[in-house]
Amino acid sequence: MTGDTRVLLDLGLDIPTGRDLFRSPAALPPGRELSARLRVRAAPAIPGLYDLDGLDPADPLGEPAEPTAVFISHPHIDHVGLAGFLRADIPAYAAPEAIALLRALDHGGETLPGPRDFSAAATSWRRADPGHPVQVGPVAVERLDVDHDVPGASGYRAGAWSCGRRPPFLTWAVSGRAGSR
Ligand SMILES: [Zn+2]
Repeated sequence: MTGDTRVLLDLGLDIPTGRDLFRSPAALPPGRELSARLRVRAAPAIPGLYDLDGLDPADPLGEPAEPTAVFISHPHIDHVGLAGFLRADIPAYAAPEAIALLRALDHGGETLPGPRDFSAAATSWRRADPGHPVQVGPVAVERLDVDHDVPGASGYRAGAWSCGRRPPFLTWAVSGRAGSR
Protein backbone atom coordinates (compact mmCIF):
# COMPACT_ATOMS: atom_id res chain seq x y z
CA MET A 1 0.00 0.00 0.00
CA THR A 2 1.11 3.55 -0.56
CA GLY A 3 -0.85 6.70 0.07
CA ASP A 4 -4.27 6.21 -1.38
CA THR A 5 -3.55 3.17 -3.53
CA ARG A 6 -3.70 -0.51 -2.62
CA VAL A 7 -1.89 -3.33 -4.37
CA LEU A 8 -2.85 -6.77 -3.09
CA LEU A 9 -1.34 -10.19 -3.73
CA ASP A 10 -3.74 -13.13 -4.06
CA LEU A 11 -7.27 -13.71 -2.80
CA GLY A 12 -7.57 -17.37 -1.96
CA LEU A 13 -9.79 -19.84 -0.24
CA ASP A 14 -8.58 -22.18 2.46
CA ILE A 15 -8.27 -25.71 1.17
CA PRO A 16 -10.67 -27.62 3.43
CA THR A 17 -9.23 -30.20 5.75
CA GLY A 18 -11.03 -32.73 7.89
CA ARG A 19 -11.83 -30.27 10.68
CA ASP A 20 -12.81 -27.20 8.65
CA LEU A 21 -16.34 -25.87 8.86
CA PHE A 22 -16.73 -25.44 5.10
CA ARG A 23 -15.85 -28.90 3.87
CA SER A 24 -17.77 -31.40 1.81
CA PRO A 25 -20.61 -32.32 2.11
CA ALA A 26 -21.44 -28.94 3.71
CA ALA A 27 -22.50 -26.54 1.00
CA LEU A 28 -23.01 -22.84 1.49
CA PRO A 29 -26.20 -21.32 0.09
CA PRO A 30 -25.58 -19.80 -3.35
CA GLY A 31 -24.93 -16.09 -2.97
CA ARG A 32 -23.92 -16.47 0.69
CA GLU A 33 -20.53 -18.09 0.21
CA LEU A 34 -18.57 -14.95 1.03
CA SER A 35 -20.75 -13.49 3.77
CA ALA A 36 -20.80 -16.83 5.61
CA ARG A 37 -17.03 -17.07 5.41
CA LEU A 38 -16.56 -13.48 6.58
CA ARG A 39 -18.73 -14.18 9.60
CA VAL A 40 -16.33 -16.87 10.83
CA ARG A 41 -13.17 -15.12 9.59
CA ALA A 42 -12.62 -17.63 6.81
CA ALA A 43 -12.20 -14.75 4.35
CA PRO A 44 -10.21 -11.54 4.81
CA ALA A 45 -12.29 -8.56 5.99
CA ILE A 46 -10.83 -5.96 3.62
CA PRO A 47 -12.94 -2.82 3.10
CA GLY A 48 -13.93 -1.90 -0.42
CA LEU A 49 -12.65 -5.15 -1.95
CA TYR A 50 -15.78 -7.20 -2.50
CA ASP A 51 -18.73 -6.89 -4.85
CA LEU A 52 -21.84 -5.85 -2.94
CA ASP A 53 -23.64 -8.92 -4.29
CA GLY A 54 -21.40 -11.13 -2.16
CA LEU A 55 -21.88 -9.18 1.08
CA ASP A 56 -24.70 -8.93 3.56
CA PRO A 57 -26.84 -5.82 3.05
CA ALA A 58 -25.28 -2.78 4.78
CA ASP A 59 -22.03 -4.61 5.51
CA PRO A 60 -19.50 -1.79 6.10
CA LEU A 61 -16.98 -3.76 4.01
CA GLY A 62 -19.03 -2.62 1.03
CA GLU A 63 -18.03 1.02 1.50
CA PRO A 64 -15.86 2.29 -1.34
CA ALA A 65 -12.14 2.38 -0.63
CA GLU A 66 -8.99 3.64 -2.30
CA PRO A 67 -8.05 2.49 -5.82
CA THR A 68 -7.01 -1.16 -5.63
CA ALA A 69 -5.50 -3.76 -7.93
CA VAL A 70 -5.11 -7.47 -7.22
CA PHE A 71 -2.28 -9.63 -8.55
CA ILE A 72 -2.63 -13.40 -8.54
CA SER A 73 0.48 -15.49 -7.94
CA HIS A 74 -0.88 -18.71 -9.42
CA PRO A 75 -4.18 -20.45 -10.17
CA HIS A 76 -4.40 -22.72 -7.14
CA ILE A 77 -7.62 -22.34 -5.19
CA ASP A 78 -5.86 -21.18 -2.02
CA HIS A 79 -4.50 -18.22 -3.99
CA VAL A 80 -7.34 -17.36 -6.37
CA GLY A 81 -10.50 -18.94 -4.91
CA LEU A 82 -12.13 -15.69 -3.73
CA ALA A 83 -11.28 -13.62 -6.83
CA GLY A 84 -14.83 -14.08 -8.12
CA PHE A 85 -16.01 -11.84 -5.28
CA LEU A 86 -13.89 -8.87 -6.32
CA ARG A 87 -15.69 -5.63 -7.07
CA ALA A 88 -16.16 -5.12 -10.79
CA ASP A 89 -13.98 -2.00 -10.82
CA ILE A 90 -10.93 -3.69 -9.26
CA PRO A 91 -8.55 -5.02 -11.92
CA ALA A 92 -7.26 -8.55 -11.43
CA TYR A 93 -3.90 -9.42 -12.96
CA ALA A 94 -2.23 -12.76 -13.58
CA ALA A 95 0.20 -14.47 -15.92
CA PRO A 96 -1.19 -15.33 -19.37
CA GLU A 97 -0.73 -19.03 -18.66
CA ALA A 98 -2.70 -18.69 -15.42
CA ILE A 99 -5.46 -16.81 -17.23
CA ALA A 100 -5.64 -19.50 -19.91
CA LEU A 101 -5.93 -22.20 -17.24
CA LEU A 102 -8.64 -20.32 -15.34
CA ARG A 103 -10.58 -19.82 -18.59
CA ALA A 104 -10.27 -23.49 -19.45
CA LEU A 105 -11.57 -24.43 -15.99
CA ASP A 106 -14.43 -21.98 -16.45
CA HIS A 107 -15.35 -23.51 -19.82
CA GLY A 108 -15.26 -26.91 -18.17
CA GLY A 109 -17.73 -25.85 -15.48
CA GLU A 110 -15.18 -25.18 -12.73
CA THR A 111 -16.09 -21.51 -12.42
CA LEU A 112 -14.77 -19.54 -9.49
CA PRO A 113 -17.55 -18.79 -6.99
CA GLY A 114 -18.81 -15.22 -6.81
CA PRO A 115 -20.67 -12.66 -8.90
CA ARG A 116 -17.75 -11.44 -11.02
CA ASP A 117 -17.97 -12.38 -14.70
CA PHE A 118 -14.43 -12.96 -15.90
CA SER A 119 -15.72 -13.62 -19.43
CA ALA A 120 -16.89 -10.00 -19.80
CA ALA A 121 -14.34 -7.59 -21.23
CA ALA A 122 -14.63 -4.99 -18.46
CA THR A 123 -14.15 -7.50 -15.65
CA SER A 124 -11.89 -9.99 -17.38
CA TRP A 125 -8.44 -11.06 -16.22
CA ARG A 126 -5.67 -8.69 -17.21
CA ARG A 127 -2.33 -10.13 -18.15
CA ALA A 128 0.89 -9.11 -16.48
CA ASP A 129 4.17 -9.75 -18.23
CA PRO A 130 7.82 -9.71 -17.16
CA GLY A 131 9.51 -6.54 -18.30
CA HIS A 132 6.24 -4.62 -18.50
CA PRO A 133 5.37 -3.21 -15.07
CA VAL A 134 1.73 -2.42 -14.44
CA GLN A 135 1.15 1.06 -13.09
CA VAL A 136 -1.36 1.28 -10.24
CA GLY A 137 -1.47 4.91 -9.20
CA PRO A 138 2.10 5.67 -8.07
CA VAL A 139 2.99 1.98 -7.72
CA ALA A 140 4.71 -0.02 -10.45
CA VAL A 141 4.18 -3.79 -10.21
CA GLU A 142 6.19 -6.20 -12.31
CA ARG A 143 5.50 -9.90 -12.69
CA LEU A 144 8.30 -12.46 -12.58
CA ASP A 145 8.13 -16.12 -13.57
CA VAL A 146 8.74 -18.46 -10.65
CA ASP A 147 8.88 -22.20 -10.23
CA HIS A 148 5.74 -23.92 -8.89
CA ASP A 149 3.66 -26.95 -9.84
CA VAL A 150 1.12 -25.08 -11.99
CA PRO A 151 1.39 -23.04 -15.20
CA GLY A 152 1.69 -19.28 -14.81
CA ALA A 153 3.24 -19.23 -11.34
CA SER A 154 4.40 -15.72 -10.58
CA GLY A 155 6.19 -13.56 -8.10
CA TYR A 156 5.76 -9.81 -8.21
CA ARG A 157 7.86 -6.87 -7.26
CA ALA A 158 6.38 -3.52 -6.49
CA GLY A 159 7.70 -0.06 -5.83
CA ALA A 160 6.62 3.55 -6.03
CA TRP A 161 8.09 6.03 -8.47
CA SER A 162 9.77 8.97 -6.77
CA CYS A 163 10.84 12.19 -8.51
CA GLY A 164 10.74 10.43 -11.88
CA ARG A 165 13.17 7.75 -10.72
CA ARG A 166 12.62 4.06 -11.18
CA PRO A 167 11.28 2.59 -7.93
CA PRO A 168 13.38 0.52 -5.59
CA PHE A 169 11.28 -2.61 -5.87
CA LEU A 170 9.88 -4.58 -2.99
CA THR A 171 9.55 -8.23 -3.91
CA TRP A 172 6.71 -10.62 -3.23
CA ALA A 173 7.67 -14.19 -3.77
CA VAL A 174 5.63 -17.35 -3.84
CA SER A 175 7.02 -20.82 -3.32
CA GLY A 176 9.96 -21.33 -5.58
CA ARG A 177 12.63 -18.90 -6.55
CA ALA A 178 12.08 -15.71 -8.47
CA GLY A 179 13.64 -15.84 -11.91
CA SER A 180 16.24 -13.32 -12.91
CA ARG A 181 15.79 -10.95 -15.82
ZN1 LIG B 1 0.13 -23.50 -5.11
